[in-house]
Amino acid sequence: MANRAVFLDRDGTVIEEVNYLSTIEEMQVYPFSAEALRRLRAAGFLVVIISNQSAIARGYLNEADLEKIHSELARRLTQEGARIDRFYYCPHHAEATLERYRQVCECRKPRPGMILRAAADLQIDLKASFVVGDRAGDVGVAQEAGCRSVLVKTGYGKTAVEQLGDLRPDYVAENLLEAADWIIAYEGQSAIQ
Ligand SMILES: [Mg+2]
Ligand SMILES: [Zn+2]
Repeated sequence: MANRAVFLDRDGTVIEEVNYLSTIEEMQVYPFSAEALRRLRAAGFLVVIISNQSAIARGYLNEADLEKIHSELARRLTQEGARIDRFYYCPHHAEATLERYRQVCECRKPRPGMILRAAADLQIDLKASFVVGDRAGDVGVAQEAGCRSVLVKTGYGKTAVEQLGDLRPDYVAENLLEAADWIIAYEGQSAIQ
């Protein structure tokens, strides 16, 4: 039996966008994130983070540092009764400072590599799944992977609206909590039909 998931962008969606977060001290979880995650879980969704982390390619932090940041994020959410099922990140960039990360990869959003890997790892039905993020790339990756998308107005969300071009999010939400409620309501409606 396939799972349904909500794929969440990290920066500007679950935590404050600070432009290349590289230390735990800089991390601020939005006050509504834990509640949004609790509601999504209660509605039966897996919650999966998919995050472009070119900060690694640029040498601002290493993968061990990033793992520590993700452990701390998971710990803070767990304290509030919320949880993330899996973290995926893309450490690459086409113009990386560090040669080992310099590539045009399949995982940097809007390419769908992270979502496809998660779908295989966690048996996710992508047509029944959603992406929430604050940038055009988050709407793009949803389209590439065959998921529905919600653009949030936190982080870069306000300016992302102008950069969408032909991309159309299924919904534009004030923040992750409103996005979660829209997803749950949408899901309930499609189950009735
Ligand atoms: Mg973001
Ligand atoms: Zn990548």
